[in-house]
Amino acid sequence: MRATTGSFATTSASSITDTLALKKQQKKMRANAGVRCGATKSSSSSSDDQTKDKKIVILGGGLQGLASAYFLCSERGCTNVTLVERCDKVAPAASGKAGGFLSPGGWGNKQTRELHTKSFELHEKLAKDLDVTSFRKIRTLSVQAGESGLADPLVEWLDGDIQQNSVLDENTAQVTPSELSSKLHESATKNGLKTLYSTECTGISFKDEARSVVNGVHVKNKSDDSQSITLECDVVVVAMGPWTTRAASWFPDADFPMTGIKSTSIVFEASDAVKSNPAALFCAEDPRFQTHLEVYPRVDGSVYLCGIGGSDYVDEDRLAPGGDCESADLIKADPSRVQAAWDSFKSMSPSVGSSPPILTQACMRPCAPDALPFLGKLPNVENAIVASAHNCWGILWAPITGQIVSELIMDGKSSCNLEHFSPGRFARPVTNGRGRKKGILSVGEQW
Ligand SMILES: Cc1cc2nc3c(=O)[nH]c(=O)nc-3n(C[C@H](O)[C@H](O)[C@H](O)COP(=O)(O)OP(=O)(O)OC[C@H]3O[C@@H](n4cnc5c(N)ncnc54)[C@H](O)[C@@H]3O)c2cc1C
Repeated sequence: MRATTGSFATTSASSITDTLALKKQQKKMRANAGVRCGATKSSSSSSDDQTKDKKIVILGGGLQGLASAYFLCSERGCTNVTLVERCDKVAPAASGKAGGFLSPGGWGNKQTRELHTKSFELHEKLAKDLDVTSFRKIRTLSVQAGESGLADPLVEWLDGDIQQNSVLDENTAQVTPSELSSKLHESATKNGLKTLYSTECTGISFKDEARSVVNGVHVKNKSDDSQSITLECDVVVVAMGPWTTRAASWFPDADFPMTGIKSTSIVFEASDAVKSNPAALFCAEDPRFQTHLEVYPRVDGSVYLCGIGGSDYVDEDRLAPGGDCESADLIKADPSRVQAAWDSFKSMSPSVGSSPPILTQACMRPCAPDALPFLGKLPNVENAIVASAHNCWGILWAPITGQIVSELIMDGKSSCNLEHFSPGRFARPVTNGRGRKKGILSVGEQW
């Protein structure tokens, strides 16, 4: 049997390999380790019961907050969980308006593949457990618009100007994000989740002067803006999507730099042709309209379109209180991009796209400078977890995010490697004791 620890005095090739592997494993263990967030360190069952009773406050009712609530209440039996949502319903932002495209591990990169693989599997399980009827496996086609039509397109409703179509991936899937959001919320609510709607978190209170232990969350309700109350809390989960950037000033030495990439999306009326022969489409850039459409047929035969081009890169000042994008209700479709997407799609599918879209909307995907999520325990604070910045994969990664959050709270460690996602990676210690510094990584061009 091979020892996993011991002396590293020998220098043979295999021992160097072993040493490197062990160091890697230790680094991974360190990244995943941590005291059970906000819980007493003990493995006894009475301590587990205490952990289940912890007052957990989740900030943000998008999919990261909802999946966290689901795993805590429905899967782990937590009895004292409160969800704070600024708007008057769950998933009012990207989590209710996104495409819902789900792709397996091969679509991830070195850092994100584990999230892709595990969450893709969890979606299938959740669909069964929660009866998510919009979840299905669907193939994805690569499509190029052109001057003339194809005689025999892969789906009959591509009956317009298509130059080329081919199968990109047979093993993709989809879900309608608003249905997944409400099913997760319903289940968590049945299992004890309390939701405070139209309630905005405005700050955090700490037990100690060093601000290392959170003991409360300041909230105010829309109906009484002047009145702020403090919710007692043993663990806080920050899942405010692009608005998480605002929470940096609530914690010591924290920085969550974020861009909200604001994009319009539209939906066309259901048709039998789409319902009976669905396929997701990734369309090449259409230079006539500056679109690069992503087309997601829904199970009812309606057709959702994003990738409409002309996205607005919303900076942190515009996301902050008083900014023009400070809340999900303020994010509206851009009429010129609606027209561009409609024109492009109508030319590719006159049978589906001739009538005007039945829904136009916009939302923001939360993007950190390195395009990776903030996912894990906040360094320097014993009982704060951040789950944000999921960029263009926040529907796919929501289940694994919820599972990770529940593991960090209940087990003190995550079953996934979180070393690349530290919520502290852009912070640097304040040396003069005042203010906070901006991120330190230079990441170059992302898009
Ligand atoms: C057009 C478009 C299409 C997309 N398509 C896909 C796709 O096909 N597949 C995929 O995997 N991903 C997709 N994404 C990405 C995905 O939608 C997002 O990554 C994901 O929805 C983010 O979820 P979230 O919970 O982090 O944030 P959000 O959905 O933004 O939720 C954050 C919540 O926090 C609340 N909040 C904010 N501030 C406060 C406060 N102070 N107090 C209380 N509550 C607060 C907000 O009201 C909001 O409800 C798409 C994104 C866009 C824009």
